[in-house]
Amino acid sequence: MTRFSLRYSPLNLTLRHTFTISRWSRDIAPNVLVELEADGIVGLGEASPNARYNESQESCMAWLAKFDTSAIKNPFDVEALLATMETYGPGNYSAKVPLEMALYDWIGKKLGVPLYDLWNAPSNIGPQTCFTVGIDETEKLPGRVKEADPYPVLKIKLGTDRDKEIIRTIRTVTDKPIWIDANEGWKDLETAKDHIRFLADQNVQMIEQPMPAAMKSELAELKKFSPIITMADESFTGRESVEELAQCFHGINLKLMKTGSLRRAMQLIHKGRKAGLQIMIGCMIESSLANTAAALISLWCDYADLDGHLLIKDDPYKGLAFNDDNNVYLPELPGMGVIPRV
Ligand SMILES: [Mg+2]
Repeated sequence: MTRFSLRYSPLNLTLRHTFTISRWSRDIAPNVLVELEADGIVGLGEASPNARYNESQESCMAWLAKFDTSAIKNPFDVEALLATMETYGPGNYSAKVPLEMALYDWIGKKLGVPLYDLWNAPSNIGPQTCFTVGIDETEKLPGRVKEADPYPVLKIKLGTDRDKEIIRTIRTVTDKPIWIDANEGWKDLETAKDHIRFLADQNVQMIEQPMPAAMKSELAELKKFSPIITMADESFTGRESVEELAQCFHGINLKLMKTGSLRRAMQLIHKGRKAGLQIMIGCMIESSLANTAAALISLWCDYADLDGHLLIKDDPYKGLAFNDDNNVYLPELPGMGVIPRV
């Protein structure tokens, strides 16, 4: 019988720039590396815990310390692993997903095939991805946009008291398509509508989480009003009704750290499509390890925001990459195809 040993350790990623969104600012992403080893094969996973969902590096490692790997009886039965993890109670999704990620990576390596082949993906090439510019002082923004020169789509973080100034400044240096992420920053319907009226003339292709997740009726009204598509991020962890979300948004932003599972993410894509929702795959601030797992899911998505690994210095892994059109693609290697960068 295959017996797994589980290792986990802090993976502190240093950011290239202090990263600021409407809720917080930080220089380090305190992630966790997970290794699942059996038969001389090591499956890799990464957690990027998020305080928005009451998770931290400590809570993640405490959950992993409790997990008993002898429960993995058949390593090819991922559904059984998910069921076992559920017996540990709800929550801790960023601790659960790297374990499943590592098991999938192990399965692919054991069989000697890339996971996109094992999952019958249409190809190993996904959607075009954006590059995120965090909130910064107005005079620094042109320089930040210049750094994003190779990337055809910019994602701009808003939800400040100077959102229009930020966009006007960016528009003095580029006319590239923009995706907006307000991170729940517009606190009432009039403010949200006013910003959307302004953004409608600014070559903006989507707006992520314009208002707080709790403001469901306002978000539903905003969906009807907005000429720009709106995407649920903080409103969507993976456990809400997709039919209800479709009342409030045009699409959903899937993140593995929220769904807690690659397999559940795939099921949510099918459910979301049935409800008429567009599908985006996003990430937290992650190395190429967790982001390659997200890139795998992106093969079934309409939009990808997979730049988490580009925002850090000294990415310890090599995995997902981008072609000339900035479409994400997966390496032609067994498992997730992630290797340590030496
Ligand atoms: Mg977001």
